[in-house]
Amino acid sequence: MLRMKSNIRENNSVLVLTEITNHPEISRTKISEITGLNKATVSEIVRKLIEDDYVIEIGSGNSTKSGGRRPILLTVNKKAGVSISFDVRYDRISYLITYLDGEKIDYEIKETDINKDNIVTHITTVVDAFRSTMKKSPFGIIGVTISVHGVVNKNMIEFTPYFDLDQLNLIEELKERIDLPIHIENEANLSALAEAAFDTEHQNIISFSAHTGVGAGIILDSQLYRGYNGRSGEVGHTVLYPDGLNCPCGNHGCLEQYCSTKAIVRNFQQLRNNKSLNFDDLLEAYRQNDVDTQNLIQKFSKDLGIGLMNIIGNYDPEIVYINAEILEEIPELLGLLQHSLSSTIYKSVPIRQSKLGHKASLYGATVHNLKEFLNVDNVGFDLDMEKVLEV
Ligand SMILES: [Zn+2]
Repeated sequence: MLRMKSNIRENNSVLVLTEITNHPEISRTKISEITGLNKATVSEIVRKLIEDDYVIEIGSGNSTKSGGRRPILLTVNKKAGVSISFDVRYDRISYLITYLDGEKIDYEIKETDINKDNIVTHITTVVDAFRSTMKKSPFGIIGVTISVHGVVNKNMIEFTPYFDLDQLNLIEELKERIDLPIHIENEANLSALAEAAFDTEHQNIISFSAHTGVGAGIILDSQLYRGYNGRSGEVGHTVLYPDGLNCPCGNHGCLEQYCSTKAIVRNFQQLRNNKSLNFDDLLEAYRQNDVDTQNLIQKFSKDLGIGLMNIIGNYDPEIVYINAEILEEIPELLGLLQHSLSSTIYKSVPIRQSKLGHKASLYGATVHNLKEFLNVDNVGFDLDMEKVLEV
């Protein structure tokens, strides 16, 4: 089910649509009771929503106690449109196609080098192939949102340290080929939107991502906080070691140079003096209790703990979700991270591993499409997590 979590754009249509969206089924009378709008106003708004295909009638509810007419129930038309999400990294592209309630239609990961010369073809191929087979629906494809591992500001890719997408006007190139609303957003920001969409409890959330880079998405009072230049949560470029390793951002000793997956693998290669070793080799050595490798992981978790504390200190979240391949492989790291907070004033902040993993940014992109299409501030999903996670 799709839930609308909040909206400040209070107009009556949005109020009514929010109530319909947030209930599996609801009558006009009930909407009137909840919103305080009179029945005639609700009926008129519902008539328009049905006419515009946002809402459908689904039979009758129970009759009233006094034996009155059984009310006709309303529900949001979840199959009225489709959302397309992409997640783009330097070494892979994945996509997720869903209905409006987040129900999956298609999902795929393709391991391949991504650069400014092939990205447009990768995206248009998926969109065109889906379009050619999709069933007719009232809204069709509501939008395409692309998650990028880099700094994004107002739909423009401004900085991608490990590939060259920042040398391309992606939105313009795509708009020439795809006649749909297209949005580009930072991966950590979208991951945070996804965590918020699945979390019914918390309104202040940090999603901490450590993949090829390190970054955080910040939700304050249920709203994504981007910062003035789209650089909020760039915790990867906070300095951990002054005069430390060079970073493509222009600084030295950035957290990202010590805590990204790339950095851990590089440290492991240096330890073994073998440049051909990869992430799997590192995990293998760790699991075989290789002392040097375990020390390396200990050092990594200490560094990551400092990064976490810095961002918690800056934004005071209720909860932190961590999204990192290494945590999926070595879950006991979570305990170490929690432990590193235990002697600080931040000890009450729960640190959780993201259940969504590498799908977080894709579901976040779905949320972004919905927010833009429905013109609301936030949406949530009531999806069966097992279904979400199945490939
Ligand atoms: Zn940096």
